[in-house]
Amino acid sequence: MINIPKGTKDVLPQDSYKWQFVESTAREIAGLFQLKEIRTPTFEHTELFQRGVGDTTDIVTKEMYTFKDKGDRSITLKPEGTAGAVRAFIENGLANGVLPAKMYYITPAFRYERPQAGRLREFHQFGVEIFGAKGAQTDAEAVVLADTLLKKLGLNVKLYINSIGCPTCRASYNKALKEYFAAHLGELCYDCKNRYEKNPLRLLDCKEENCKKINANAPSILDYLCDECKTHFDEFKACLSLAGVDYEINPRIVRGLDYYTRSVFEFVSTSIGAQGTVCGGGRYDGLIQGLGGNPMPAVGFGAGIERLLMVMEQSGVAIPEPQKPTVYIAGMDAVCRKKAFELAIALRKNGVLVEIDHMERSVKAQFKYADKLGAKYVAVIGGNELENGVMNVKNMSDGTSEPVPFCVATEYFKKEDITKKFVQVIEERKYRSKDAKLFLDCKELEKMKRNFKSVADFNIWAERKYKIKKASIENRVRCAKYIDENGRTILPHKGDMDFTYAQLVEILNKLKGCDNLIFDLCKKDIIRPDMSKNEIIDVCRLYM
Ligand SMILES: [Zn+2]
Ligand SMILES: [Zn+2]
Repeated sequence: MINIPKGTKDVLPQDSYKWQFVESTAREIAGLFQLKEIRTPTFEHTELFQRGVGDTTDIVTKEMYTFKDKGDRSITLKPEGTAGAVRAFIENGLANGVLPAKMYYITPAFRYERPQAGRLREFHQFGVEIFGAKGAQTDAEAVVLADTLLKKLGLNVKLYINSIGCPTCRASYNKALKEYFAAHLGELCYDCKNRYEKNPLRLLDCKEENCKKINANAPSILDYLCDECKTHFDEFKACLSLAGVDYEINPRIVRGLDYYTRSVFEFVSTSIGAQGTVCGGGRYDGLIQGLGGNPMPAVGFGAGIERLLMVMEQSGVAIPEPQKPTVYIAGMDAVCRKKAFELAIALRKNGVLVEIDHMERSVKAQFKYADKLGAKYVAVIGGNELENGVMNVKNMSDGTSEPVPFCVATEYFKKEDITKKFVQVIEERKYRSKDAKLFLDCKELEKMKRNFKSVADFNIWAERKYKIKKASIENRVRCAKYIDENGRTILPHKGDMDFTYAQLVEILNKLKGCDNLIFDLCKKDIIRPDMSKNEIIDVCRLYM
């Protein structure tokens, strides 16, 4: 037995709806903001991430899945989504197209980390990239998009923002940082000593307790912003206020990746027992040029899907469960099961959610199984039912059952509210229940549904209909029976019937073949002279 690699996870069929919910919500919100999806390869040349993520970052120095392929090229499984999107943006000439280019991705990403709750070696990211716009309004739009998504997912979050300036103002800030940390160099962790030399800004990002303590008193970047960066940050804040998104400034946020400039932000869950960052991003105006493109501003964010799901679960967010079957059709024996199969196909064609037996279970076991599936109705077909062309439908919520002809199954399951109401009204008016079913199948019902908005309206109609029916009986009495040349009884009819008995018999023979049916139905006043050809065919089908 071969086990799953460490740090990876199976998403099983009973859980995948949670993923689908997060992914479809992300797609929906991205669409709302007019972003289109980009899909890039799972692996890229290692150099892309060295340059695009930054070779002093933990991701690049410690966590990448890098290997030589058979052509001796250094290949890396993507550790995040932005670098690949930027590469594709440059390589495909999108930079010369219509700007801004607004896109999102949902991608697996790979980091060789110590596996822990909410952190896997293969994880999934939803990310947003907006290329080509330099104004702070675009930064705010990215934040509002993230905010909309997180709220739609049911999360309580707090937004922290910061500006980490541009290379100009960061030079003086780095100097100040180095001066500050110089006094504490001995107390810093091994990594931070490295960072001190290579990228002092990232000292603020250290997760070590001791380093965090030292960081608390470090100078704030916000005191070192140049005029342009200051204006940009003010504008960013103003746009967020305009959008009604609350924020708090946190000068310690620098983000873990090297390519950020100016605006950076993080959303932190505020639900009890589920704290932690769920989404982070910012502006990275230098990245596209850094990866070989023409200088072009960019802003974006990413959110780990596993992390979102974990926080949603811890916060008790109710994720909508997948649709359960409307009806489970149970067959008593092999022949009935075939009918169930046939009906299921027809119902599914009409968009009804159906399940049937595939395990040759007994009817009792099928009921149990249907209940487990959460089916709203269980329809049983036995020998009797099969003969009468009906199934016995049990409403699983109130335990009531009634026979439903096969031919109105779709209408019954799709429009249950309307039809049930009308069935009730018809029955109250002492129509026979078979007649009630008959109405369900009539074209008349379609008219009814269109024209009658209330039961009262329907009552008026039914009254009139009933009189017509009586009149037609009287009319019938006046009609003589006709015997045709073969000695068969001819249907009494008015001139508005546009087909002959012989034609109808032919049609019926094609359907199933029963010569006396029409006459029987006429005698029972079920087929009436005021009915149309289609109605009569439908009625005959029902009674076959
Ligand atoms: Zn600046
Ligand atoms: Zn440290």
